[in-house]
Amino acid sequence: MKKGCPYGTHRVISPKGVLPQPADVIDNNMEIYDNEVLIDVKTLNVDSASFTEIEKRAGGDVEEIKKIMMGIVEKAGKHKNPWTGSGGMLIGTVKEVGPAYVGDLKPGDKIATLVSLSLTPLVIEEIHEIRPDIDQVDITGQAILFQSGIYAKLPDDMPEGLALSALDVAGAPAQTAKLVKPGDTVVVIGGGGKSGLLCLYEAKKRAGVTGKVICVGGSPKSTNRAKSLDLADEYFAFDATDAVGMYNKIMELTDGQLADIVINCVNIENTEMASILACKDNGTVYFFSMATSFTKAALGAEGVGKDVNMIVGNGYTKGHAEITLQVLRESEALRNLFAEMYA
Ligand code: NAP
Repeated sequence: MKKGCPYGTHRVISPKGVLPQPADVIDNNMEIYDNEVLIDVKTLNVDSASFTEIEKRAGGDVEEIKKIMMGIVEKAGKHKNPWTGSGGMLIGTVKEVGPAYVGDLKPGDKIATLVSLSLTPLVIEEIHEIRPDIDQVDITGQAILFQSGIYAKLPDDMPEGLALSALDVAGAPAQTAKLVKPGDTVVVIGGGGKSGLLCLYEAKKRAGVTGKVICVGGSPKSTNRAKSLDLADEYFAFDATDAVGMYNKIMELTDGQLADIVINCVNIENTEMASILACKDNGTVYFFSMATSFTKAALGAEGVGKDVNMIVGNGYTKGHAEITLQVLRESEALRNLFAEMYA
């Protein structure tokens, strides 16, 4: 059996020398190296920015979405959307564990991989069902987890689809838990979406009674979804591509103080400036959205003379899976909503 690198560099075909995530093409031969784990995949949870883009490209046609997805994997050996660069994650059952793999996985374990599909060797034999509303795709296929790849064993106290959808965005509520301090004013843009709802819950919990949490939804529907769960202090629906409009609205709701923390959970482009303008000087903008442009954020902030800390939405922070599943255990209302929408 061949020896593998912990980071999976042995699978990179092109360009040579890079890690699997930035690679254009990786080897998706399902014969494992000595430190790899082979997974029988059940469901892919395609990243929202990626799925939205594929759906648009396919004109909403499910057969066309299937073709695009199969095409991406055939070409790249992984599901890295070439237009957004993002992936998603998967759930499945461990089929084989390499003899040199260090960890407690064994065949038969049901897991969710917490590393991106944009770096995961994947073979799709067949796509059975696409659920466009929740970006989930049931397949027959296999995937490889590298030694360094993080995962969560699926909890047995909630349905798999529910855990999958929450774990997909686990970095967001966990980062929110770490960023928000008592008394903070927090704005969550895209607050009625999947990651947004989890962030609102954590923000409200951490900001406490002296803090203020403002939910900005993309439409009245998602705004009302958050409102029905009483997850924030203020709610409004607004198009976050309108930066100045957002600034005026947040000025009004904060008595001209603006926000200490702005969390961007949208799935479309061109919302960097609304996030930056809503934040006070020395405040923090956390860009969880994969549709964020580093160039637009950095040059845009400079262009308006805003001294804000900007955090790239690392999908991982320590304890992120536990923190996120705990939210669903703590909040019955949120769990019910997630079960209804995603399970
Ligand atoms: P989601 O459930 O689809 O939520 C996105 C939200 O954005 C929706 O509620 C939508 O509101 C709102 N929105 C859309 N257009 C808007 C606009 N013009 N103004 C204001 N809000 C708008 O997505 P998600 O699963 O939470 O994911 C959110 C983002 O996180 C995506 O970009 C995804 O790719 C990214 N992500 C990042 C990581 C990471 O590791 N950093 C991991 C997973 C996902 P309506 O529903 O009302 O339209």
